[in-house]
Amino acid sequence: MTIHVHPDILSLSPYVPGKPIEELQREFGLERVIKLASNENPLGPSPKALAVLNEGMATLHRYPDGGAFRLRQALADRWKVTPDQVILGNGSDELLGLLARTFLSPGDEAVMADHTFVIYKMEVVAAHGKAVTVPLVQWRHDVAAMAEAMTPRTKLLFLCNPNNPTGTMVSREEVARLLSQVPEHVVVVFDEAYFEYVRSADFPDSMTYVRQGRNAIVLRTFSKIYGLAGLRIGYGITTPEITNLLNRVRPPFNANSLAQLGALAALGDDEHVATSRAVNESGMDQLKSGLAALGCMPVPSEANFLYFDAGCDGRRIFEALLRQGVIVRHIEGRMVRVTVGQAEENQIFLTALARVLKTG
Ligand SMILES: *Cc1c(COP(=O)(O)O)cnc(C)c1O
Repeated sequence: MTIHVHPDILSLSPYVPGKPIEELQREFGLERVIKLASNENPLGPSPKALAVLNEGMATLHRYPDGGAFRLRQALADRWKVTPDQVILGNGSDELLGLLARTFLSPGDEAVMADHTFVIYKMEVVAAHGKAVTVPLVQWRHDVAAMAEAMTPRTKLLFLCNPNNPTGTMVSREEVARLLSQVPEHVVVVFDEAYFEYVRSADFPDSMTYVRQGRNAIVLRTFSKIYGLAGLRIGYGITTPEITNLLNRVRPPFNANSLAQLGALAALGDDEHVATSRAVNESGMDQLKSGLAALGCMPVPSEANFLYFDAGCDGRRIFEALLRQGVIVRHIEGRMVRVTVGQAEENQIFLTALARVLKTG
C-alpha cells in the first residue's frame, strides 16, 4: 500500500524504553526481577500522592481542569514566580515537543550535546528542525563549543543538567559564561529532571535567568524523586511570553486530573523527598565503590544513576544481566547506565555484574 511520509520522520527510529519487569519475568521465567534501568524512585510513589488519588476517582467522567489552577499556583509559590509562568506537561517529555513545535521552523537549528537525553533530537527532527550536536568532553557538556555552535538559524539550546545518561553537571559559572555568549533570542532549555538529587553547591540557579526575563525555560518533573513516572506529569517555569506561546500548541487536557492531584500532594511531601535523597546518597556510595572494585570506574554523578565503562561490549553485559534478572541500560559501546536502587537491589546488581564479568 503506498504511503507518503516526510523524510524527517523516516530518519527517526522508535524510542526503546527500559524493559518492563513483567516482560522479563515472562521471557526468562524469573521470579524476582530488579529494574535499575529508568531512573525511577526505588522507594515508590510519594505516600501523600497515593492518599489523594482516590478522591479523584469519583470525578473521572469529567475533563481535567485544563488550566490546572491549584497545581500551577502551588508551583508558582514554590518557585517565586507568577502562575502565568508555569506550564504543565504530560511528563516534561511533552514540553520538549511543545518547545520544538513552537520555536522551530523547518531547517532551524537546536543545539545539544551528542550524548544526552535522546528525546531532544527526536522532537527537533519531528518538528522538521536540525539537531546540532556538540561532543561532550570527559562526559561533560562543552559549554564553549556549544556557544560556538550558534548560528543565525539556532532557535533552541538544550542543557541537560545533570546530564542523562552521564550524570555529569554543568556549573553555575559555566552556565553564566554560556548565557553571556548565547544570542538573546535563543530559547535556553534547562532540563533539570534530577534537580532534587543534586549535591554540588556549584549547581546553577537557572530560575534566576527566567526571573530576569531571559528567554529560558526550566523543566522539572514528578517522574523522578517524587516517584510518579506512571502518572505522567512534569512542568516548566518560564517567562509569561513563552508560556503564552507554548499554550497555543499545548493540548488543553494534557495534564490529567489524577496527575494534577497527585503532583500537588507530592509537592508538599518534603519527607518523601528527603528520604529518597538520603537513600540515593548511600546507594550511590555503595554502587560507586562496588563498581570501582570490579574495575568499572563510574563517571562522577549528581543524579540517581551511574554511567560506567563495562570494559567490554556493554550490550553483552546488559543481556547477561537480564538473564540474571537485573535490568540496566546499555547506552552504547562499552558504556552502561545503572539507576541507584535500594541497598539490597544494589547488592544484587553488583553480585550479578561480578558473576557476568568473571564468566566473560
Ligand atoms: C526522566 C527525564 C525526563 C522526564 O521525563 P518525564 O516525561 O517527565 O517522565 C526529562 N529529561 C530527562 C533528561 C530525563 O532523564
